[in-house]
Amino acid sequence: MLLTPHTFVGVALATSLQNPFIAVPLSFAMHLLGDKVPHWDFYSNSTKEERVKGWRPLAVMADLVTGVAVGLTFTYFVLWKQQNPDLALTIFLSGIASVLPDALEGPYIYMKSEPKLFSYMTKIQRRLQFQAPLPWGLLTQLLVIVFSSLIILKNLGLI
Ligand SMILES: [Zn+2]
Repeated sequence: MLLTPHTFVGVALATSLQNPFIAVPLSFAMHLLGDKVPHWDFYSNSTKEERVKGWRPLAVMADLVTGVAVGLTFTYFVLWKQQNPDLALTIFLSGIASVLPDALEGPYIYMKSEPKLFSYMTKIQRRLQFQAPLPWGLLTQLLVIVFSSLIILKNLGLI
């Protein structure tokens, strides 16, 4: 999946569970489950060469920036508007954990060789990916975002 829907899932878990010791590891685990949702991403049907050139790295960057913006928006909202630093920290850490599996895959994509631990992560991720063609592969992720947003807004008392 793209990083942005992963981030929404992480924030939804954080606001639901509140406890960082449960929410953070679960956000990491949910990333792997999230990749089981049939999806399209920038690496679908691409070769290793195609992944490091042209528009793909830029699209990944844009997705990453969006994901970070989502995580930080909720973090700051809870910190300043709701004056809840504990939950803000849980949201922040869960957001990071929710995209961490892909971040660990970065070296595989952008470097010739990669550290052992990373290649292990890459292998697990490869096996879990469930690709779907456009537009369905984006629609599923949109649903993940909408569903997670509803959970988040409800948990934060905004709806
Ligand atoms: Zn992934």
